Amino acid sequence: MRAVCWNGPKDIRVESVPDPIIINPRDAIVRIHKTAICGSDLHLYNGYIPMMEKGDILGHEFMGEVVEVGSRIEELRPGDRVVVPFSISCGYCFFCRKELWSLCDNSNPNASAAEKMYGFSGAGLFGYSHLYGGYSGGQAEYVRVPFADVGAMKVPEDLLDEQVLFLSDILPTGYMAAKNCAIKPGDTVAVWGCGPVGQFAIKSAYLLGAGRVIAIDAAPMRLEMAANQGKAETLNYEEVELLEELKERTGGRGPDACIDAVGMEAHGTSLTALYDRAKQAVKLETDRPNVLRQTIESCRKGGTVSIAGVYGGYIDKIPLGIAFAKGLTLKMGQTHVQKFMKPLLERIRKGEIDPTFVITHRLRLQEAPEAYRMFADNKNGCLKVVMKP
Ligand SMILES: [Zn+2]
Ligand SMILES: [Zn+2]
Repeated sequence: MRAVCWNGPKDIRVESVPDPIIINPRDAIVRIHKTAICGSDLHLYNGYIPMMEKGDILGHEFMGEVVEVGSRIEELRPGDRVVVPFSISCGYCFFCRKELWSLCDNSNPNASAAEKMYGFSGAGLFGYSHLYGGYSGGQAEYVRVPFADVGAMKVPEDLLDEQVLFLSDILPTGYMAAKNCAIKPGDTVAVWGCGPVGQFAIKSAYLLGAGRVIAIDAAPMRLEMAANQGKAETLNYEEVELLEELKERTGGRGPDACIDAVGMEAHGTSLTALYDRAKQAVKLETDRPNVLRQTIESCRKGGTVSIAGVYGGYIDKIPLGIAFAKGLTLKMGQTHVQKFMKPLLERIRKGEIDPTFVITHRLRLQEAPEAYRMFADNKNGCLKVVMKP
């Protein structure tokens, strides 16, 4: 089959590789219909994530059709159309039973490497380095889905491939970010970062009862999308003094909840830095946690800060004293996709949200090297790329 392979930093190639086969009784093989490039794929592209190997197949956002199932899979049959969560979860461990799917104890065969770095390991991830299990990703013609009985969700015929594709990651991620805000009817929610996750956080905040959403970014195209699609008020942080402006717009009190949908792009780097030298980490981390600082500084007393953006290591100068004095609630973490897929599928069916609005580019799998380049360089208004094998 053809697959998108990592060959080194900024070296993505579409190569011919062996087809995946059933290895374990709970596996399924899925023929990919649609797959997307995620912002977090750029950390791999830029070479910031350790334990990548030449030839690793990328991609953790995909959907398609079941073509083969292992002997213990009863829930799925060849021909079923499914969407698959980015994190791999066994369904039966202590954490899976608590619906903390992304913290599964059983799905990372290289847990010891992650334990060395963090003291523990989370779930294995598709197409995201050998640190997270070395699973081949879904930017390919076929993919092996482990624990497919709890990982792959069947999708109804009345929905298009693209309408369900983002249930694999970014829609549940944006939704969980808003859900973590414990929104009360009429609340004001501020969202930092209007990439795809930020866009879905905006939509989700309204779905969960927010009265106002303020979208913060510097890219006019993203702010426009937040205003037109998300019905958010917008704020360009390059044009105003952000903290003052937020105060001004909320009667001097600050937003009820603040969502960090930026994370630390530089924090992909901190993983490596952590791996190498604490000193280097400190140097890398001094300039970028500004979004997290701003959310804490601007949130109203007793409010909630919800972190959806990915953080990798140690960060400094976080104003914990302010968070404590204000009595803030801080919520964060890798998305428990399996928990939110079904409720969100229902919302898509009811027409409450159509996630396809974030797609700016539709390409062939063969064009992946250009797609990565364009996405990484932020060219042609590229917000979200969907590829078809
Ligand atoms: Zn993703
Ligand atoms: Zn588990």
